[in-house]
Amino acid sequence: MDNIIYLDNNATTPVDSRVLEAMLPYFSNEYANASSTHNFGQSIKKSINRSREEVANLIGANSNEIIFTSGATESINLSLIGYALANIEKGKHIITLKTEHKAVLDTCKYLETIGFEISYLSVNNDGLIDLNKLKSEINDSSILISVMFVNNEIGVIQPIKEIANIAHDSAMAFFCDATQAVGKVDILVNEFDIDIMAFSGHKFYAPKGIGGLYIKGLSNNKFKLQPILHGGGHENGIRSGTLNVPGIVALGKACELAKKEMNDNAEIISALRNELENDLLKFPGSFVNGSIENRIYNVCNICFPGMDANVMIGKMKNVAVSNGSACTSAIIEPSHVLAAIGLSDRDAFASIRFSLGKYNNRSEVHTVSKLVRELFIKS
Ligand SMILES: *Cc1c(COP(=O)(O)O)cnc(C)c1O
Repeated sequence: MDNIIYLDNNATTPVDSRVLEAMLPYFSNEYANASSTHNFGQSIKKSINRSREEVANLIGANSNEIIFTSGATESINLSLIGYALANIEKGKHIITLKTEHKAVLDTCKYLETIGFEISYLSVNNDGLIDLNKLKSEINDSSILISVMFVNNEIGVIQPIKEIANIAHDSAMAFFCDATQAVGKVDILVNEFDIDIMAFSGHKFYAPKGIGGLYIKGLSNNKFKLQPILHGGGHENGIRSGTLNVPGIVALGKACELAKKEMNDNAEIISALRNELENDLLKFPGSFVNGSIENRIYNVCNICFPGMDANVMIGKMKNVAVSNGSACTSAIIEPSHVLAAIGLSDRDAFASIRFSLGKYNNRSEVHTVSKLVRELFIKS
């Protein structure tokens, strides 16, 4: 895929060559099990600990508050199911948003089948939460609020600190799916008062299959999670299974690079996004889906009324973009996020998500604007 213009960075990112280089030795010479007590194992364990510190450092946590998982889907399942089961004596009610990622929504649906009650809050037309609605949904049985940091489809940023405060005022825990935020924007968990937070390596230049979970005060068991994977008691007994050493080393490296470089990258990427968006908004009737002000810098989700996004994407052969969420695109249904912000099915099917990353450049943005312009001339 040589001439690809890749504007689908919210689906996944390429691996940074420095990340690849850091992980490669752990596929060959450095193969010991990090749990082995011999010197070889213990030297691998040191690498794991360094990675844990890099991850913790990126998000302002303590390294003993981080556990490694296979990615955000697993972290989300463990957080929601694990918290629900471990805190069942406190209540059985969880509050989330209709615009969450399927990993959250489908896990909540599963929890409903085993007796939990879930409130799926609708959002305002800009994609943002209604905090009064959130407050009025809380009852004596409420134990957990689950709201994502950055929406993967439209990029809107929720008022995380306010949501955390509301949770804590009612003695509830706050879980945040921060998969589209970690590695892109400065998140210090204590500043936002997040209790449990999920993230994934492949959304910020580490490979697929490695992610993590932040759990506040993990060692003093403040937020109890019942494990889903049982076995050797790895990761504080919360996530058994031999550690994915190359993946963990890669995640650590990606976090180190993000800490140093993400703010500079953000400036460049946001300029590219704005340029692309300005160009695309010249097309008759087109508009941005979701809040323009409270939005991450790398995404624009644009509706081209009257057009068919799938046809457009098919004609832009070497451009990788997404018609809504990649995770649902196997099923031909309008995106649940676009539906939740009030788009008609027709407008949802006319919407395209462009998500940029640090390897994009101006000439790519110009090419994409030009290709979209040609589509309009022909239609
Ligand atoms: C990609 C994504 C996930 C799933 O992450 P995986 O690591 O691929 O399991 C969950 N939530 C959001 C917001 C995402 O963007």
